Amino acid sequence: MTDFNRNPIPLPEKPGKVLLHSCCAPCSGEVMEAMLASGIDYTIFFYNPNIHPEKEYLLRKEENIRFAEKHGVPFIDADYDTDNWFARAKGMEDEPERGIRCTMCFDMRFERTALYAHEHGFPVITSSLGISRWKNMAQINDCGVRAAARYPDLMYWEYNWRKQGGSARMIEISKREDFYQQEYCGCVYSLRDTNRHRRENGRDRIQFGVQFYRSNPAK
Ligand code: SF4
Repeated sequence: MTDFNRNPIPLPEKPGKVLLHSCCAPCSGEVMEAMLASGIDYTIFFYNPNIHPEKEYLLRKEENIRFAEKHGVPFIDADYDTDNWFARAKGMEDEPERGIRCTMCFDMRFERTALYAHEHGFPVITSSLGISRWKNMAQINDCGVRAAARYPDLMYWEYNWRKQGGSARMIEISKREDFYQQEYCGCVYSLRDTNRHRRENGRDRIQFGVQFYRSNPAK
């Protein structure tokens, strides 16, 4: 077993297995190692139909699988049901990041996570989504709590993964593992808006599959 040389984190209030919704390897790397170092039994649930295009989706997923296999953590590869995601996003195409489209997007991912947890005997769900400083943690936690409340025996674990050096370790682990580095949140609208911003600042459009953490020491 890997020696992580770090303090354990407080366990969730409910005992039992945790289902960790993971959005990508860079965000979940620190969450995964924190739980492993604390003796928490967990499984990764990869359900992110928001990610566009499929090439980017597969890059992010494969990177997450690679790290899960390294640590021997079970990995559930859930549906890539993009039609449902686009149907739910209808009318929200021009909403800004951290707005109502993102609430819908978190809700959708947590609802599926909660359903899987309920059907497969996980009493606790949590997510790597909130570790990024680009995200609104309160917005994410609200969505997680709402999804878990659909089932009487399920709780959403609101642990703040940024605490006690978590944010810095997230970057350290990403560099150590040379994770693929995504350059936009995930959906086609965030891709559009990021490319627009880059164009306005004289930068090239995003290219898929070329940026890795070690090749970008500034991050
Ligand atoms: S910006 Fe990110 S969180 Fe918001 S809808 Fe797009 S993929 Fe989902």
